[in-house]
Amino acid sequence: MNNVLRPIFQQTVGLLSGHRANGKLLVLTYHRVFEEYDEIVDEIDAVQFTQQMETLSKYFNVLSLEEGLRQVRSGKVVPGAVCITFDDGYKDNYEVAFPILQALNLPATFFVATGYLGDGMMWNDVVIESVKNTELTDLDLAELSLDKYAITTTQQKRTLLGVLINRWRNQSLDKRNQLAQKLSEIAQVEFKRRVMMNQDEVKQLSDAGMEIGGHTVNHPILASTSIQDARYEVEEGKAQLERITGKELRYFAYPSGRVDKDYRQEHKEIVEQAGFSAALTTNNGAIDQRAGMFELPRISIDYTNKFKFGASLARGYVQYAN
Ligand SMILES: [Zn+2]
Repeated sequence: MNNVLRPIFQQTVGLLSGHRANGKLLVLTYHRVFEEYDEIVDEIDAVQFTQQMETLSKYFNVLSLEEGLRQVRSGKVVPGAVCITFDDGYKDNYEVAFPILQALNLPATFFVATGYLGDGMMWNDVVIESVKNTELTDLDLAELSLDKYAITTTQQKRTLLGVLINRWRNQSLDKRNQLAQKLSEIAQVEFKRRVMMNQDEVKQLSDAGMEIGGHTVNHPILASTSIQDARYEVEEGKAQLERITGKELRYFAYPSGRVDKDYRQEHKEIVEQAGFSAALTTNNGAIDQRAGMFELPRISIDYTNKFKFGASLARGYVQYAN
C-alpha cells in the first residue's frame, strides 16, 4: 500500500475496531499464504499477510479461539476481538505464516484435513498446479467433456481454473479426484513439491501453542456424503490429530463450510457427538451471543486487494450470524 493510502486505511480499521466491534468476535479464515505473489492463483503472499497481521496487532485484540469463544459465552467481548484461522493444512502455513505470527506474538488456529498430510494434494490443488505448471500451450479437455482451451496467458489460465473449479466442486470426492487426476495427465504435469504440512510440522505448531482443529480426513462436502462416511470423516480426523499433537481437539471447521449447502443440521450433531466444543462455517459474519456454537460464521480473507481486507472486516460487523 502506498504511503498516502496507508494511514487512511489504518484509520478506518482503527475506527471499526474501536466502535463497531463491541460485543462481537470476528474470526478470519485464511487458506494458503504464498511465499511470493503468484499472479495465476492471486492469493495472499507473505508481504500482504505481514501487513494484515501488523494491522491486526496494532488496532485489534487478537485472541486465541478459546479465549474469543470464552468471551462470547460470557457476554463480554473486548473491543476489536479477532481470531485468526487457517483451513486445510498447507505447508506454507507452517513455512510462511507461522514465523510471521510468532514474530508478532499472535495466536492462531489451524484446521487440518489429515488425509493429505505429507505428500497428499486436494483435488483443487491438483487442478491449480496442473494448469499453472503445464508446459503445453493449450489443453484439449474433450475427455473431460470440455472444450480445447488456449492457455498461453495468465488471464487464460485464470479463466480456465475458474471454469474447472466451479464445474467440479460439487461432485463427489471420488469423482473430483478422478477428474483432477485426468487433467494432470492431459497437462503432463508431475507433482514434485510438497503442498501440505507433514505430521511433524503440525506437531511443531501445536507445541508452539497454536491451536490445531479438525477438518475431516479427506475434505468431503459433508452434505454430499453418506451419514456413516460423514461420521467417520469427523471422528477419524479428530483421532488422528489427537495422536499427532498429543492434545485433545476442541474445534472443527466444516469443509467448504456453507450452511445448508456444504453441510446440514445432522452434521452439527455428528461434530458435537464426536466431542468438539465448537464448529466454524464459511458463512460470512461476526459472532455474538446469539450464534450457535456449532455454526459460527467467519470472514474469508483469500484475496490480495488490501482495501478489501478493511471492507471484509467492516462487513463482518454489520452482517450477523445467519
Ligand atoms: Zn477446507
